[in-house]
Amino acid sequence: MKNKRPDKVGHFGLFGGRFVPETLIYALDKLEKEYSQAKKDKKFRKEFDYYLREYAGRPTPLYLAKNLSRALGINKIYLKREDLLHTGAHKINNTLGQVLLAVRMGKKRLIAETGAGQHGVATATVAALFGLQCDVYMGEEDIHRQALNVKRMKLLGARVISVKSGTQTLKDAMTEALRDWVTNVRNTYYVIGTVAGPHPYPEMVRNFQRIIGDEARAQILKIDGRLPDYLVACVGGGSNALGLFHPFFDDQKVKMIGVEAAGLGISSGKHSASLEYGSTGVLHGSKSKILEDKFGQIKNAHSVAAGLDYPGVGPEHAYYQQIKRAQYVAITDKEALEGFRLLSKVEGIIPALESAHALAYLKKAARSLKKATIIVCLSGRGDKDLHESY
Ligand SMILES: *Cc1c(COP(=O)(O)O)cnc(C)c1O
Repeated sequence: MKNKRPDKVGHFGLFGGRFVPETLIYALDKLEKEYSQAKKDKKFRKEFDYYLREYAGRPTPLYLAKNLSRALGINKIYLKREDLLHTGAHKINNTLGQVLLAVRMGKKRLIAETGAGQHGVATATVAALFGLQCDVYMGEEDIHRQALNVKRMKLLGARVISVKSGTQTLKDAMTEALRDWVTNVRNTYYVIGTVAGPHPYPEMVRNFQRIIGDEARAQILKIDGRLPDYLVACVGGGSNALGLFHPFFDDQKVKMIGVEAAGLGISSGKHSASLEYGSTGVLHGSKSKILEDKFGQIKNAHSVAAGLDYPGVGPEHAYYQQIKRAQYVAITDKEALEGFRLLSKVEGIIPALESAHALAYLKKAARSLKKATIIVCLSGRGDKDLHESY
C-alpha cells in the first residue's frame, strides 16, 4: 500500500481540509494547480535540487553518534544533521521550495508568520536571494524576546510587522498573515513555515521536507545495510518529523516517535502537546488536534523551545496518531535542557532546544531501546538558545 495521502481535497482521514474565507479558495486552488504542475516538471525539480545542494548545503550527514549511544546504553543512534544547513535548521528546505513556486507564479512579494523568528529568517533569506519584497508577521511579545532574529530579518531586507492582537505570539502572527493574504492575494505569496494551514500547504511542505527522510533512508542502507528500528523527531507544527517519517511510511517495521513539548509539565497547563492532550478542532485553515479551552478559545502554548510553542499541529500527524502509524510522547522543558547539555558535552554538537526534546526522549526511554538502531532528526543548531540554557 502506497501512502497517497492526502485525498483530492486535502484530507488525511478525518483531518486536514480547508477552513478559510471564501476569498482564499481561488488562491488556494491556483496554488494547488501550480504546485501539482511544478511537482511533475523536471526543470523545477532540478532547480530545487540545485539550491538545496549549492545554497543550503545538502545532503546533510547521517552521523553515528557513538559517544551518545554509549552514554545512553543504546545500540546505535544516528543523527540526521539538519543543523548543518544554511540558516541553521531544516526550515530552509521548505522556504527554498516555496520561493521557487512563488517565482514561477510571478509573485513579487512574500509574506510569512514567525514565532521565534526562525521561519522568518529562512523566508527573508530566500526573498533576498530571489530579489522579492518580504513582510514577516511577528507577535510584539516575540519581537522583544527574539531581538537577534529581528535584526537578522531586517539585515536581509525584510520588514518585520509587529502583531499586537491576542497574546502577541505565533498564533496571532499567523492569523494576521492570513488576513494580509486575503487582501493582497494578487501579488503576494504566503510562505507557511510548517505542515499546517489549509490544503495544499500540509502536503506541499511535507514534500519539500521529505528530502530529510529520502536521504536518511538511502544513507542508512548504505552505512548499515538495513533500515532503522526507530525514527525520532520533535514536533512543533511537525515538518521536520514528517520530512523524516514520510519516506518510511510503508516500512511497517520502522517505528516512529514524535516528541512534543510538555513545557512546565502537562498538569501545569503550560505545554504544547496538542496531539496527546489536545482535542479535535480547526485552527489556521485546517482540522487537526489543537489546544483549546472549554469555550473553544485557543489556549496559550508553552515551551522553552520557541519552535515548539504552537497550540496546533499539522493534520497529517493527527492522522498518523489515529491510525497508530506513529506514537507521540511529551518531554518537559527540564528534560529537554538535560538533552541539550548531554549532546553538547559528549559529542561536541550543540542542538537546538527543539531537537533536544527528541534527544531527551532517548534518555528517558533508553532502557527499552538497548538493542535499537535509531535515527534522530537533529532539526537545528543551538547557538540561538544559549540565553535560555546555561
Ligand atoms: C521551527 C523548528 C522546529 C519545529 O517545527 P516543525 O515544523 O515541527 O519541524 C523544530 N526544530 C527547529 C530547529 C526549528 O527551527
